[in-house]
Amino acid sequence: MNAIQPASKSGTLASYIPALLDADPEAFGCVIYKGESFIEAGRTKDRFTLQSVSKIVSLALALMDQGEEQVFSRVGMEPTGNPFHTIQALEKEKPSKPLNPMINAGALVVTSLLEGNSGEETIGRFLAFLHELTGNPSIHICEKTAASERKHADLNRSLCYFLKSHGVLKGDVEGTLDIYINQCSVLMTCRDLARIGSIIGNEGRDPETGRGILPPRIAKIITTFMVTCGMYNASGSFAIKAGIPAKSGVSGALLGCLPDGTGIGVYSPPLDEKGNSAAGVRLLETLSEKYDLSIFSSQNRV
Ligand code: GLU
Repeated sequence: MNAIQPASKSGTLASYIPALLDADPEAFGCVIYKGESFIEAGRTKDRFTLQSVSKIVSLALALMDQGEEQVFSRVGMEPTGNPFHTIQALEKEKPSKPLNPMINAGALVVTSLLEGNSGEETIGRFLAFLHELTGNPSIHICEKTAASERKHADLNRSLCYFLKSHGVLKGDVEGTLDIYINQCSVLMTCRDLARIGSIIGNEGRDPETGRGILPPRIAKIITTFMVTCGMYNASGSFAIKAGIPAKSGVSGALLGCLPDGTGIGVYSPPLDEKGNSAAGVRLLETLSEKYDLSIFSSQNRV
């Protein structure tokens, strides 16, 4: 960790959600979890908001709520070389379906598909699902971050209205946006991230009890999106250099998983130019190289 920490100096904190500027740029923690054992290093007690890592959780829940056919009639499966919040591709694609559920446009459509009779009920279901995935019933929303994002959500709001005008996003724009902002503002630790990663890597089963939390098919879909689109428009180079299915968020959160059921949670807030945690990326690349963790290595192929 000490050797990697300087990588964070090359990054900058996300500023378009002003509350994210409160983060300590020196914070750096990592948890690796498998079965009942955790390996921890650095500031693993620090809490941070989930941001885009929430997109894999909402996708899993939407797939359980609506089924694959319905979800993928509204959002595509293709990676993109564009940044996560761009509107440009939506204009080019016919019909205007977002390319994948990991960019903001796609994630907003996914959120609109979550079941619930009210926004409160939907976000309550989302939190309950997170409690189950992490085994941590104290997980909650950071109201300060949510309020900050709400004030600066015009780009996401415009994506929603664009999608609504093309009939891709159904229902109430402001309600969907609010659920999305809340899901991005859930507070977590590296340990929580690592447990979620472990369940995804373990084909959806709780690594301690063996109980199925996600259907294996959904765990497989999520893992595939993590490889093809999980690291924004650096997903290709990360797949080559680290080969670890991963999802990052603009808070500096990074979740990884391996097919043997190992989950990895990393937090370091300064971001590189693609929006990924600079030290987080360096750490996973280094670990992968040292322990030959790439899922594309011949010894790891299943
Ligand atoms: N809440 C953030 C947004 O929608 C999440 C972005 C991210 O982590 O990539 O802009």
